[in-house]
Amino acid sequence: MKPLQYPGLINKNFTPFHPIELAQWTESIVADGNKRRYTHFYCTGVYGGISTGYTVGCCLRCVFCWVGLDRDFPFDSGNYYTPDEAFERLIRNAQKSRVRNLRISGGEPTLCREHLLPLLRLTSETGYTFILETNGILFGHDETYVKELKNIKNVHIRVSLKAGNGKGFEQRTGAQKEFFMLPFQAIENLKKHNLRYHVACMSDARLMSQDERKELLKHLSEITYDGYLEEERCDPYDTTIIRLEKAGYKLF
Ligand code: SF4
Repeated sequence: MKPLQYPGLINKNFTPFHPIELAQWTESIVADGNKRRYTHFYCTGVYGGISTGYTVGCCLRCVFCWVGLDRDFPFDSGNYYTPDEAFERLIRNAQKSRVRNLRISGGEPTLCREHLLPLLRLTSETGYTFILETNGILFGHDETYVKELKNIKNVHIRVSLKAGNGKGFEQRTGAQKEFFMLPFQAIENLKKHNLRYHVACMSDARLMSQDERKELLKHLSEITYDGYLEEERCDPYDTTIIRLEKAGYKLF
């Protein structure tokens, strides 16, 4: 059942939520037809330079998340952009800063499918690479979404795993443990449709035990993923510290 209040920062006594329902609920707040809300567009040095649209809204509540607090309170943040308008901003900044990569950050890019797919199609007509960073929830839930990416050649997908078992997933993302395997299913769907991707994981030893990390590796091996595994470390961003403290973690 949908909680009565939109889930914000998770605390020690949070009620786990249904991530697909939260995705739909969030879309109803941050999207309008094919428009999605962004707060700003900028270039940054990661990936050797990338033009970034900073958007609003996610279907998880990771305790280590660095993005702004509009992830948790997205109601009035940003302005609506059509796919054409977002594309124009991304390209303009990329040209100005002479970078070759594009992305959406600040929230989960796969929310608002009617926005993302046209935007990707526009970028596929350029020489830029679109790095699609995702938590894999929606790509695991709906294979048809992944299938629609098939003809968009310049996309590289980075699936970021948050946990190695259901308990860790629920504790650190706030989502019900039953949905823990969705990101692994996303990897299988990407493989099946021959897309370009790699896997990342938040395996920082201060958050994930060695046993849980082993479970994560076992799941990857069961789905025969043998590509590059990018292991992430939790950095002390202000928002990360707020989230960790609220959820009862002391890392820094
Ligand atoms: S880390 Fe990524 S998936 Fe997790 S809450 Fe933040 S934006 Fe969402």
